[in-house]
Amino acid sequence: MTTFKDTLDIIENTYSKKVDVIVNLLDVDLKTGLQERSINDRIAKYGLNSYREQKQKSILLILFEQFKSPIILLLVVAAGFSFFFEDWLEGFSIIAVIFITVVLGFIMELQARNSMKALKKMDVSVSKVWRDNSLKEIQAERIVPGDVLVLEAGDIVMADARLIEVNQFEIDESALTGESLPVEKKIEVIKNEVPLADKINLIFKGTSVVKGNARAIVTGTGVHTELGKITHMVATAKQGDTPLEKKIQGITKILMVVTAVFAGIFIITGLLQGKQFYLIVETALALAVAAIPEGLPVVSIIALTYGMLRLAKKNVLIKRLASVETLGGVNIIFTDKTGTLTENKIDVNKLMFFDEDITIAKKGDDSSIVINKNKGAYEKLILISILCNNAASEQKENKKKYLGDPIEIALLQFVNTSKVNVEAINATYPRIAEEPFNSETKLMATLHKNNAGNFVAAKGAVEKLIDTCSFYSAGDRVIPLTEAAKKDFLNRAETIEAQGSKVLAFAFKEAANIPTTNFLSGLTLVGLIGFLDPPRMEVVEALQSCRNAGIKVIMITGDHPATALNIAEKIKLSEKDNVVINGKELDSKLSDKKLFAATIFARVTPKQKLAMVSFYQKHGSIVAMTGDGINDAPALKKADIGIAMGIRGTQVAKETAAMILKDDSFTSIVTAIMQGRVIFKNIKNFLMYLLSCNLSEIFIVFFYGLLNFPFSVLPLQILFLNLVTDIFPALALGLGKGNDLIMKIPPRNPQQPIVIKRDWFTINVYAVLLALPILLVTWYCSHYLKYDAKLCNNITFFSLALSQLWHVLNLPSRKISFLNNEITRNKFTWAASLLCISIMAVFYFVSPLNNYIGLQKLSIDTWLIITFTSMTPVFLIQLFKRIFKIID
Ligand code: ADP
Ligand code: MG
Repeated sequence: MTTFKDTLDIIENTYSKKVDVIVNLLDVDLKTGLQERSINDRIAKYGLNSYREQKQKSILLILFEQFKSPIILLLVVAAGFSFFFEDWLEGFSIIAVIFITVVLGFIMELQARNSMKALKKMDVSVSKVWRDNSLKEIQAERIVPGDVLVLEAGDIVMADARLIEVNQFEIDESALTGESLPVEKKIEVIKNEVPLADKINLIFKGTSVVKGNARAIVTGTGVHTELGKITHMVATAKQGDTPLEKKIQGITKILMVVTAVFAGIFIITGLLQGKQFYLIVETALALAVAAIPEGLPVVSIIALTYGMLRLAKKNVLIKRLASVETLGGVNIIFTDKTGTLTENKIDVNKLMFFDEDITIAKKGDDSSIVINKNKGAYEKLILISILCNNAASEQKENKKKYLGDPIEIALLQFVNTSKVNVEAINATYPRIAEEPFNSETKLMATLHKNNAGNFVAAKGAVEKLIDTCSFYSAGDRVIPLTEAAKKDFLNRAETIEAQGSKVLAFAFKEAANIPTTNFLSGLTLVGLIGFLDPPRMEVVEALQSCRNAGIKVIMITGDHPATALNIAEKIKLSEKDNVVINGKELDSKLSDKKLFAATIFARVTPKQKLAMVSFYQKHGSIVAMTGDGINDAPALKKADIGIAMGIRGTQVAKETAAMILKDDSFTSIVTAIMQGRVIFKNIKNFLMYLLSCNLSEIFIVFFYGLLNFPFSVLPLQILFLNLVTDIFPALALGLGKGNDLIMKIPPRNPQQPIVIKRDWFTINVYAVLLALPILLVTWYCSHYLKYDAKLCNNITFFSLALSQLWHVLNLPSRKISFLNNEITRNKFTWAASLLCISIMAVFYFVSPLNNYIGLQKLSIDTWLIITFTSMTPVFLIQLFKRIFKIID
């Protein structure tokens, strides 16, 4: 037996070997494919078809990166100063705080990393192979050398393989060679040594099928692929910061500048007043510490990943963190019809022949099919349905499982009810060429050999296929297709299209010798088949919620305008009458006004989809676009949010899209947009919260210092506030579930900063109203009640801590009830408050902890003062909001 190593050597130069040599080496029967039971042995021998695609950030690196933040840097400087002034307790405490911050950041980032891993796992790739004499869809990881790959347009090649059968097969190898033009592949043996790009009888992992279909025998998997060989050379592509992260970093910078200004004023006035240098530095430090929202970066990552996980549970996979923000800003959704707005349970429901219409009453029962005049045409229709078909069925525990295009599956299911022997027909009509379906031509045709010579089977959109026909079946005669007959067929098609059916025409040609290219002319039209695909009724509600949310939904489909219009009306796509534009009209220049008015674009090509995305983007819209086919990839890429279909979508579409809908349903798009808005709102909520809390701390420290109060808040106390009473509530805010207004307001503009001018105003109002009562009360206590400095300091500290806890209640908009809103319904907020109070209690009761941050036992009276003081801001802010209506 050959060992692993020499097997690989043998199959190395596969392009120069004959197929039967490779077949022998890899011990496979091309007819049946590999035996399923031998797969595990092969995996044991060759390994799984995978490699570490991207080196994960190492745990050590994550830990190290925690130290890089400016926050830690500032704390280190603060600790340095403390040691310099021989304030050992404070110095060591700050070091402890650095430690806590690092560990906290580290744990949370690990958590986020694990969530990302979990999300990645859900996105497993599959591949079609021929095994045990039938077509199977398997996890790409389990492909082994010797497997027979079955490929069609839109697939991504999952292993290196030698082609054994091709049909107008073109591959995009840009991922590997950088060459952007598709390469046409052949099966001939190549004698000489040639560079990779010229090995045209091989296909490589990571490339994608642009056109046609093929079979190939797998020769390399996992690290033993061309891609595997170079992957370890390619440096880990560093994921750039998302726009959101950049915006948040920007905000941190603003805060630092604000602090610098305050500290500057403070130092200058302090020096002028002739204050002790130590005191000045101490307060400046406190200011700096107060300004930095320690929890900000971590809380935003957690909010994002948690939101993504929640979406994954609802059938939506977001592939890039940055997309979450864009999602919330979407104001146009371009959606296709089939499968997204409809159930994608396609059934044949109508047959139309010359002068004879048959409605199929019951699915799977051919007794309802009674043909009177067109028996011959009916037989041809069945024949074409079998031959011009790439769908396959597989017997799985006494249930038939179908693979392939939904229309073709419907056709297979239909012919299966009419007792014909599909396999026998396929055997007597071997296929020799194919004109693959393509959404530009909207046609598909196959060329076959038979006893008489050649046979062409064709199907496609009625008005397209009819143009290739010269004859038609009328009763049992074949007669020339007149303009009148053409019109008649088109009219009859349109009648049932207007009832929501999809209609395809069927045609054939028989001759002694037909060339293998350009065989689509002089066909004979045999009849039409109507397919019914009922609309998804849950879409009606989702569309209404889009309207409320200021999002326009436009149907963009390759289907006939009449079919599209009927479905649009059934799901109430538009409140007013729908305006349909036919793809044909798009080529002549339409006015912008006409384009904006359209709610349906029908019979469009993928190029036109791309043009529509650009058109709307040019006019400032944020566009989400769905797609499934390979030709949709450019539009998916161009759209702000490309949405691929999880079930129907090609691998290429899934690869390009920013988001994948696992259930293909339109409703999930709306869920995703809503979640995007919720996540954004959460981030905004905790930003407003953290910023106003920190600003209020700055105000207090600044004014105490300026007014020479002897009981200023200590840097350690501020650190305690920022680490305990800020982070936990902020984290809770980041996990909120959103309010009722979320889908009732227009989308925001993602170009805008997160915190706009109005918000800064609000933050300042919050901060002033948070600080003012504390300043006044403490001053009163000191001046009139003659409380000592430490007591006054404690009153300030606890009032500040508690008022920050209550402050979460101020975040909801005044348009929402004060008692019932996203904050009060969020169980995390309550848990966070409870946790904070408990931690505070520990620091209050347990010595020497209380000593560390300068706390002492307080009387009931003092606690009453604190409680009163800490609650005042809520009253003031609510008053401000609801009576003066100055802030939201
Ligand atoms: P959509 O996905 O928007 O419904 P497609 O681009 O898939 O539209 O299809 C457009 C038209 O092409 C269909 O209305 C039908 O007439 C035709 N068509 C679709 N699938 C096939 C197929 N497998 N073979 C032949 N024609 C097809
Ligand atoms: Mg389609």
